[in-house]
Amino acid sequence: MLFGRNKKNPIKIADKGVVEWKYTTCGYCSTGCSIEVGLDKKGDAVTSRGVADADVNRGKLCLKGIFEHELFKSAGRGRVPLMRKKRFDEFKEASWDEALDKTASEIKRIQEKYGRDSFAIVSTGQIMTEEFYTLGKLARGVIGTNNYDGNTTLCMSSAASGYKRSFGSDGPPGCYDDFEHTDCLLAIGSNLPEQHPVIYYRLKAAMEKKKFPLIVVDPRVTMLAQMADIHLPVTPGTDVVLLNSLAHVIIKEGLEDRAYMEAHTSDIESFEKLVAEYDPESASRICGIDADMIRHVARTYAKAGAAMTIWTMGINQSMHGSDGVVGINNLNLITGNIGKPGGTSLSITGQCNAMGTREWSSCSGLPGYRALENAEHRKEIAEFWNVDEEFFPKERGLFMTDIFPAIETGQIKGLWIIATNPMTSMTNTARMRKIMEKLDFLVVQDAYEDVETNEYSHVYFPAAVWAEKEGCFTNTERRVNLTRNVVEPFRESKPDFWIFNEMAKRFDHSVTFPENTEGAFNEMRELSKGRMLDYSGLTYDKIEEKRGIQWPFSEDAEEGSPRLYTDGEFQHADQKAKLIPLPFVDDNERPCDDYPFWLNSGRVVEHFHTRTRTGKVGNLNKFSPTPYMEMNPDAAKKLGVEHGSYARLTTRRGDAVVMVQTTQRVSPNMVFVPFHFHECVNRLALGLLDPHSRQPAFKQCAVKIEPIVNQGAAAVRNKAARAY
Ligand code: SF4
Repeated sequence: MLFGRNKKNPIKIADKGVVEWKYTTCGYCSTGCSIEVGLDKKGDAVTSRGVADADVNRGKLCLKGIFEHELFKSAGRGRVPLMRKKRFDEFKEASWDEALDKTASEIKRIQEKYGRDSFAIVSTGQIMTEEFYTLGKLARGVIGTNNYDGNTTLCMSSAASGYKRSFGSDGPPGCYDDFEHTDCLLAIGSNLPEQHPVIYYRLKAAMEKKKFPLIVVDPRVTMLAQMADIHLPVTPGTDVVLLNSLAHVIIKEGLEDRAYMEAHTSDIESFEKLVAEYDPESASRICGIDADMIRHVARTYAKAGAAMTIWTMGINQSMHGSDGVVGINNLNLITGNIGKPGGTSLSITGQCNAMGTREWSSCSGLPGYRALENAEHRKEIAEFWNVDEEFFPKERGLFMTDIFPAIETGQIKGLWIIATNPMTSMTNTARMRKIMEKLDFLVVQDAYEDVETNEYSHVYFPAAVWAEKEGCFTNTERRVNLTRNVVEPFRESKPDFWIFNEMAKRFDHSVTFPENTEGAFNEMRELSKGRMLDYSGLTYDKIEEKRGIQWPFSEDAEEGSPRLYTDGEFQHADQKAKLIPLPFVDDNERPCDDYPFWLNSGRVVEHFHTRTRTGKVGNLNKFSPTPYMEMNPDAAKKLGVEHGSYARLTTRRGDAVVMVQTTQRVSPNMVFVPFHFHECVNRLALGLLDPHSRQPAFKQCAVKIEPIVNQGAAAVRNKAARAY
C-alpha cells in the first residue's frame, strides 16, 4: 500500500500576480547572474527569478538574488536631497538644484583655495559601467582632480596589480567554463559556497561530471575546504612562501613546461634563482604546511593536463596581496596553464561591477585600460573628449586608502563619496571618525540615506539603486551583461548617470556628455576598437539576447572570447609574461603573549559588504543579524567563554563585542569574525597597506579575547553594531 500518497498536497508557490518579467543582472556579487524581475499590474516589483538560458547561472540564484526586488522599497532609501550648514546639524530637505549648486560651488571654492587635487572623489564597484565612464570623464576631464579612486582598492586592487605586473595588463584570463576542462583546481583564500554561491554551483556541476582534485588553501575550514580533497591550513599571510615552494618543487623535479616558459615568459633565470631558496622544509617552517604535502600538491598540479587557480580576498587583502597574485601567475606560467581550457589564473572578483570600474572608470588611469603615464594614451583620450592634453596628470594620484590619510594631514579638504561606506569598510574606525570630521566639505551619494558615512556629510544625493536605471556590469569572467530599467527610481532619487551629467553642467568645460547610458556605451565601444579590451561589437540588444557576452568582442565577432592570451602573447612590450621573483618579508602582525589569537575576517552568505542593502532585507538579515565570532571550543573552554555568550575582542587598535559561536572550523589559536558589521571587525583590523596595490591587510592580525561579566551591557553594545 502506498500509504498516504494521494493525501499529499503538492507544493504551491504563491501567485504574486506577475503580469510582466523584465531582464536584468544581479547587482550584488561579481558572479553576474541574469535575473528577471516580476512586476504586478500596478508595476511593482514582486518577485525575482534566475534566467534559465543564461550561461552564467543557468536559472539559479543565491538568496541575495532571490530577494533583490525587495531593495526598491527597502528601509533607509534616500527620498530627497538633503543639506545642512554644519556637520551633525539636522539635515534639511533640498531641491536637486540646490544640492548640486552647493556641491559644485564647494568643489570650486576648495580647488581655487587649495589646488585642484585638494578635492577627492571615492567611488565604488556597484554602479553601471556607463556611469563609471561618465564619472571618469567628469573627474579627469572637467573637475580635474587626480585624487580619484574606487573602493575596489579594498577588494580587488591586488588582483589588478598582480595581473598588470605578470601579464602587462589587468583582465582575468579565464572563465567559469574552465571548471569543465580542468584536471586540478587550486582555490586560495576563496570560500565560494558563501561568497559566490552560483559560481560554486558551476564548480560542483563540473566536479560531478569530471572528477578532479580540489585543493583548498585557507587558514580556516571554510565550507569549500570541507568539500576539498586536500585542505592546506596555511599560516595567515604566508601564501607567497607556499607558492614559491610549489614552484621550487616543480622546477627541481623537472615538472615545468619548459617550452612554454621559453617561448612566452621573461626573467626565467632570476625567478629560478629565488625559488631555489624555498625548499619545502624551510617553507614549511613559515607557512605551516607539511613539506611532503607541499611536494604532493606541486606534483599533482604540475602533472595535471590542465590546472587552474582561483582566489578571492584571502590573497588580496594582505600586505603581500599583489605578490600573492603574482605567485599564482608564476605557478601557472611555469606549468603552461594560461590561456588554455581548464588552465588559468582566475581572480574571483567581489562587487557586481568591480570589473567595470577597472575597465572604464579612469580611477587608476584613463578609460579602456589606458595609463596616465603613457603620453599616447593621454593624447587619444584628450582628443576624444575634447580636453587639453595638459589638463591630465602624468601619473595616477592617491589610492582610496591613501586619500583618507591625506585628509588627516590637510592635503585633501573636500570629498565626494559615491556608493561606498568607508565608515564601516575602512580599518581603524576611531581614526576614520576623526578623519571625516576634518573635511571642509563632504557630499555623499548613495541609494540609502541611513548609510553610516552620511552622518558626516554636508550634502546628501539620493541615488537610484540597481535596476531603477539602465546600463552594464562586467562579471568575473569578463562577461558584459545588461541591467534594464525595471522600475522608476524611488521618490526623488536619481540615477548616478543623471547626477554626474547634472554636475558637469555646473562647470566650464569643452567636453560633451551623452544624454543616456547607451550614448556613453557607444563612446566606450569606439574607444575600445582594436584593443585587448574590445567592446566594439557589443550592443545592448545583442547583450540581452546572448544573456551577456565576454570581451574581447570586436565588430566582426560572432561569439564572445572565453579566454585571454590563448596565443601566448601578453601585453608587456616584448609580448612575454614576466616571471617575477617574490622574496618573502615576514612583516605580518603575529599572535604574541599579549594578543595570543589570529583574527581572520570574511563574508557570510546572507550579507553583502557593509549591509547597507542586505541589512534591510528581512529574509537575509533575520538569518544573520548579529556580529559574532567563530571560536574553537577548546580555546573557549580554556578562557571560560561560553557558546552563545558575548565576549570582548581587543587588538592594538581597538575593541569590539561579539557573540561567541564555538566551532571546529577554526583552530585553537584563531578566531573568525564576519566583516559586514559596523563598529566591529574594522575597529580591530591591522590595515597596513600592500606596497603595490595599496590594499589593506584586513585578515591577519593579533587579538586577545575576554569573557564579559555584564552580558546585558554587552548585548546592548552588540546591538549597536547591528544598527538596522
Ligand atoms: Fe547575485 Fe552573486 Fe547571488 Fe548570483 S551569486 S544571485 S550574482 S549575489
